[in-house]
Amino acid sequence: MQNIININNINKTLKNASKSSIDSILSKALNFKELKPDEIAVLLNIEDKKNLKKIYATAKKIKEIIFGKRIVLFAPLYVSNECINDCLYCGFRRSNKSASRITLPLSKIVEQAKILEHTGYKRILLVASENPKKVTISYLASAVKEIYKNTSIHIVHLNSAPFNIDGFKKLHNSGLGVYQLFQETYHPETYFYMHPGETEKDYYLRITAMDRAIKGGIKDVGIGALFGLYDYKFETMALIFHSRHLEKKFGSSAHTISVPRLRPAENTPVQKTKYNLSDEEFKKVVAVLRIAVPAAGIVISTRESAKLRNTIITLGASQISAGSRTSPCGYSSETGKRWLEQFSIDDNRPLDKVIQDMIHHGVIPSLCTTCYRIGRTGKTFTLKAYEGQIKNFCLPNALLTLKEYSLDNASLQTAKICDKMINKYIKNIKKYKLPDNLNLKIEQIINGKRDIYY
Ligand code: SAM
Repeated sequence: MQNIININNINKTLKNASKSSIDSILSKALNFKELKPDEIAVLLNIEDKKNLKKIYATAKKIKEIIFGKRIVLFAPLYVSNECINDCLYCGFRRSNKSASRITLPLSKIVEQAKILEHTGYKRILLVASENPKKVTISYLASAVKEIYKNTSIHIVHLNSAPFNIDGFKKLHNSGLGVYQLFQETYHPETYFYMHPGETEKDYYLRITAMDRAIKGGIKDVGIGALFGLYDYKFETMALIFHSRHLEKKFGSSAHTISVPRLRPAENTPVQKTKYNLSDEEFKKVVAVLRIAVPAAGIVISTRESAKLRNTIITLGASQISAGSRTSPCGYSSETGKRWLEQFSIDDNRPLDKVIQDMIHHGVIPSLCTTCYRIGRTGKTFTLKAYEGQIKNFCLPNALLTLKEYSLDNASLQTAKICDKMINKYIKNIKKYKLPDNLNLKIEQIINGKRDIYY
């Protein structure tokens, strides 16, 4: 355990954080100098409104320097809710007998992916419960390949139980984008309490999963912690060290860091804990992660309310899910069966409305998937992020995909709003440092060409 992150030091650092000036820490961060644990602890310990505002403003600046104003959109696709585990907080726990369970056959996965494709998504995240007999590596690899073969979804990510290096190799060969796995909690005692039957070995296999995934060829990995299981400052610090461990060892930080917050789930003994964090604390977590791990994408899911998500998209988040369902077959309106949901979501807006709201808040919705398709991944992505180059590709690509969305999927009202935003950027091509031929490419899309990118 100690060779990944030094768990024992985290609480000590948080407790004994130095009194370094907040302004000097934030200016160091803005110059992209690595913050020391002590300095991160100072930021995490801030509670007063004035200094919180300073953190938010810095996070916003860093987000815009690295990623620009764009935020990437995706949807989860649950392939199975049949689970061997009994996690105390999860609706999929095996002791929950309240609703039907299923592992989707490949044809159903493609059916669900097609629904998402027609809504406008180009990127989906397959989510699977742990079931070694049914949710096998070859099942998951076939699901990825079938989606590419039968839909215009350009990139498929996966959140599943961890595998060995050979398993990850097979997944990589299927064309998988990001492999995502949350540690749930980095605090060992809490981990063992929340996951009955799991041992030190399971904790270790989980925390080292990303090392194996990268060795198996998957260049982009997504880490996360389930906020609410243990102290949020501890988990934030652990996530930062986990990402830094990956960067030191493989040259690329975590591609994404997810910050799911505990939500009520049916028939679970742990619905709330004394560690549930307030919205303000949650915003601070996102901002501190953005400041301390500038090249990582920060993912905010529909576990959060629309109101909170509309705020967070301007202070550090770079990817959000939208229109999500957390049960297999969740996107079709089949009657008769009620497939077990993993947890209840808080933001029920469909993609169309999320896009409207993003634009209203000055954020550019992006359905772009270019990086994975041209090899701008792993170390290359991290280097380009630090050089401030990612936004140069992201902005025009976001606008191109937004134009496709406006023509193919948007409601009339949303299409108008999208086009207004696109035109604003086209009219100010020099100011926004956009490629001279962007207008030409937009014309090509209007004339029926698809999937154009820089
Ligand atoms: N089987 C995979 C694994 O071993 O990690 C996937 C687990 S689950 C399908 C995906 C994630 O949902 C979990 O990692 C957990 O963080 C989150 N989750 C589970 N129960 C939740 C709840 N009640 N509220 C919010 N998130 C939850």
